Amino acid sequence: MSRESSANCPSCGSNSYEVFAELPEMPVHVGVLWESPDAARASRRGDVALAFCRSCGFVGNRAFDPARVDYGLRYDNALHFSPTFRDYERHTAERLVERYDVRGRRVAEIGCGSGHFLSLICELGANRGIGFDPSHEPGAEELAKEVRILREYYAEDHAEHEADLVCCRHVLEHIPAPREFLDMVRRSLENNRDAVVYFEVPNALLVFRDLSIWDVIYEHCNYFAAPTLDSLFRSSGFEVVDLQEPYEGQFLSIEARLAPERIGVRASQGGVDRDALGEVADLVARFANHVQQKREEWSDRLASFARAGSKSVIWGGGAKTVSFLNLVEAGDSIEWVVDINPGKQGSFIAGTGQPVVAPDRLAEIAPDVVVVMNPVYRREIESQLHEMGLTPEILVV
Ligand SMILES: [Zn+2]
Repeated sequence: MSRESSANCPSCGSNSYEVFAELPEMPVHVGVLWESPDAARASRRGDVALAFCRSCGFVGNRAFDPARVDYGLRYDNALHFSPTFRDYERHTAERLVERYDVRGRRVAEIGCGSGHFLSLICELGANRGIGFDPSHEPGAEELAKEVRILREYYAEDHAEHEADLVCCRHVLEHIPAPREFLDMVRRSLENNRDAVVYFEVPNALLVFRDLSIWDVIYEHCNYFAAPTLDSLFRSSGFEVVDLQEPYEGQFLSIEARLAPERIGVRASQGGVDRDALGEVADLVARFANHVQQKREEWSDRLASFARAGSKSVIWGGGAKTVSFLNLVEAGDSIEWVVDINPGKQGSFIAGTGQPVVAPDRLAEIAPDVVVVMNPVYRREIESQLHEMGLTPEILVV
């Protein structure tokens, strides 16, 4: 898809969809496990041109080119090695099983990754599960007995796999045409009007209000705030049952059923919360300046550590770290990235090439500064450092 064809808002079709911030040449594949520093540095790059729709509040990357992204590569986005995230997933699965009495039912998960969450929900409710994910690695995780995973993108012809609960977590932000995608999911449920859908996406307010600018990555072509997610679902023929900001406000979760009658796009826009939309408009207007300030602030800080001879490492080898190291100058003063996920250890950071190592390597590295990319994990990281007898300065990005 070229800039031309994505010039209209992918959510509502309006042409008042204008670029407000540009981050050129970002690594395209942040979750891929690169096997050498050279391969990591040579990995494919693409431009991010964030655009805002004045009609519905949608934010997306107008320069996004789906042909550049290949989810079939050796991929690892699993967060469930973190006890904090594992608790959250279990709690979410339990809540869905309880609230919608998902017992002895059929559960589908689009973009199921390792199949961890799908297995959880199938075990909790004795359900049958089917997952769709081209990047799924068979055998990487022990699945529940009644779970089957197809290594394919979810598509129209999968509608034959009828489901009572459809889950789709951290996928919609990767889909260039979110409205068409939701239309497809809706059509697959038309014979089962009691079915429930559960979607989870990153909360874009974190990026635009709290300036977590490192959450901007090439693979995310869409950035949803609560009012825009709500209006997208309603105008795609769903009735929104619940919309929350879980995981300390970092995610948005939406639970919905098929609406009795489909509301047209235009009618649903009357329902966009104009105040909330105005808030997003103000935030995006200031965003480009804020990005520049943040980049300079961290570049200076890392440069001063390097001058003082301090050894700094980053804890967390995920998407935020890739963006951070690629956006901040003096990122090369960071020589190591630590991650608790054994699957990531031994790989290298896209674009900048730092090796990802296990936490126990820190005893020998003896860092003076540990940069923590996500405040949610601060306590967990502090206690691990404490157990190793390390007391570095901890900086939360
Ligand atoms: Zn729009």
